[in-house]
Amino acid sequence: MLAPSTPPGRGASPGDIAVRLITYREAGRERLGLVTGDHVRAAADVLPDAPGTMAELLARDDTLRELQEAAAEPAPAAESARAGRRLEEIELLAPVPRPGKIVAVGLNYHAHATEQGIEPPTQPTVFAKFPTSVVAHEATVSWDPELAGQVDYEAELAVVIGRTARRVLERDALEYVLGYTCANDVTARDLQRGDRQWVRGKSLDTFCPLGPVLVTADEIPDPQALAISCTVSGERLQEASTGDMIFGAASLIAFCSRAFTLEPGDVLLTGTPSGVGVYRDPQRLLRDGDEMTVEIERIGRLVNRCRTTVGDR
Ligand code: ZN
Repeated sequence: MLAPSTPPGRGASPGDIAVRLITYREAGRERLGLVTGDHVRAAADVLPDAPGTMAELLARDDTLRELQEAAAEPAPAAESARAGRRLEEIELLAPVPRPGKIVAVGLNYHAHATEQGIEPPTQPTVFAKFPTSVVAHEATVSWDPELAGQVDYEAELAVVIGRTARRVLERDALEYVLGYTCANDVTARDLQRGDRQWVRGKSLDTFCPLGPVLVTADEIPDPQALAISCTVSGERLQEASTGDMIFGAASLIAFCSRAFTLEPGDVLLTGTPSGVGVYRDPQRLLRDGDEMTVEIERIGRLVNRCRTTVGDR
């Protein structure tokens, strides 16, 4: 199975060498990389016959643990010249650059329901974002202000599915997770409301930043115990714990997989905490030049700058 089994206590000790997965572009090609600290190596340089891309890793069922162990070994001195580069020197793509589907959940933090004056839902409110909305860490989030006038940020924990999941039980559901990354469920509120159907307001090109890295499930024994925040142009606007979720990651996987098959590489956005711009008083909607930072404990910081562009470019 792709998601590694979790030896007791693994992920709990801060001394562990964490190996993170990235997708990056080099010489025009998409590649799978392994990050230790801020040091990046191509998976192909770490292990002979390694998968070349995240999609290849997701299609194979036996290589993740081997890759992690090989990457945790210090590179032999003779290989140090090709043994890697620093994370900031490479062109990052989203960890899963084109998911098969993105399933998102509305109203999934208690405090976010409260700020809208509604009762917590009794079952998850599931909606879709189109995969063409995905962009990387440090990519520009852009929109035409003549199309979308009220654009908002939503910090979210993203779950990346590692194995085909159909009718799985909640207690087994986390075994289907490859790992976690940060997401920003950018939303055009005027389209979301005006359409009475969320998909357009949620799916504008660039409206789903993901990354920068994928932290494998073995490093996150409890996805419901992570600090999550969103900062816009220096102002901390969302701050919560994933423990405030109404339906946790395992419950969402079980719920979705009763209705449709979750496939390797599918991304599940688990909802946003309170503090989004549209419910603030006064409102704080996104403007040209804003810098958004989604930060999740043990996973990383996802930074994207906003840009408005009039007309169809
Ligand atoms: Zn959302």
